[in-house]
Amino acid sequence: MHEQKRQLAILGSTGSIGTQALDVVRQHPESFEVYALTANNQVDLLIRQAREFLPEMVVIANESHYETLKAGLQDLPVKVWAGQEAVAQVVEAEPIDMVLTAMVGYSGLKPTIHAIKAGKTIALANKETLVIAGELITQLALEHRTPILPVDSEHSAIFQCLVGEGDNPIEKIWLTASGGPFRTFSKEQLQKVTKNEALKHPNWTMGAKVTIDSASLMNKGFEMIEAKWLFGVTPEQIQVLVHPQSIIHSMVQFEDASVKAQLGMPDMHLPIQYALAYPQRLPAPFERLDFQRFHTLTFEEPDTEKFRNLGFAYEAVRQSGNAPCILNAANEIVVAAFLNDQISFLAMSDVIEQTMAAVAFVAAPSYDDYVQTDAEARAKALEITHKISNSNLLV
Ligand code: MG
Repeated sequence: MHEQKRQLAILGSTGSIGTQALDVVRQHPESFEVYALTANNQVDLLIRQAREFLPEMVVIANESHYETLKAGLQDLPVKVWAGQEAVAQVVEAEPIDMVLTAMVGYSGLKPTIHAIKAGKTIALANKETLVIAGELITQLALEHRTPILPVDSEHSAIFQCLVGEGDNPIEKIWLTASGGPFRTFSKEQLQKVTKNEALKHPNWTMGAKVTIDSASLMNKGFEMIEAKWLFGVTPEQIQVLVHPQSIIHSMVQFEDASVKAQLGMPDMHLPIQYALAYPQRLPAPFERLDFQRFHTLTFEEPDTEKFRNLGFAYEAVRQSGNAPCILNAANEIVVAAFLNDQISFLAMSDVIEQTMAAVAFVAAPSYDDYVQTDAEARAKALEITHKISNSNLLV
């Protein structure tokens, strides 16, 4: 039987997940077709991708690159747009079956809402969308009967463990974490770590923002919140487990005490392909897991004294309302500041903590409340960041 090719919109096509998704498409031209590509800033790469995959439309979010993009594709029948608003609108195009949200941070929220309302299947790589507005997004997806398929490796693992389980309740999720490059560091050592050290993840190749989030364990905090919304469990049912080899990508424990795990080499191509092709498993050339090389798999408790961000995430999700949105906004500001050498690794957590205490709590936020909370929390986090970086200059 011949199935129609799945028409994809890839948002954030020039980033780490986006380029790996295009690798998957390149391997399986019989299964996928690229209908739309969007990027934020990397216009040259976007042009190359568009010339190779010939989508119907491309969007560059940063409008200052519009002329370059247009000139680069003028000999091709590709529609070209620019601006954040255009990113949110292309996802509604009728032929699109699936939208891969692979952009970074808050910018994923609006296009995801548009895609859900247009009834598109979401392959969710932008975890911040569920961190910021998990309740709103899951409610909308339910209303519009839109599946949200996880791309994050842990959530893909959990999702794969649940295939065939029907209504069997989840007792517990074991959310595995590599622990990042600073897992064994003391607090004193953590005080002095540089961005280059933080950008060297031991197991995974990822974009800069998520790599810093992994080093600070904020990524695991976000993933806990993401899991809560994707799988309808409470935060108490999600236990973070440090597993430095990153071979077990997460586990589900059922009410009969059985635990299912999904294993594989740490390679994002696999969870990306699983989401894009779901429910099919397509053949892939990815590296096979060699148990001779990984004969010891180890597990540890996460250290929330050293890595305070994980604790903040549990606190934010306990408070609920706009608290996770404040957490995310503050984190986006401090990660950018850390990457600009404006604050230290540990100061990131100080700014997040103070921002969470300073921004007004909203118990049942609307979409507009999220927009306002995000703006307010960013301004507050920037102010605190400047205070901290100035006081360091004086020392
Ligand atoms: Mg992950």
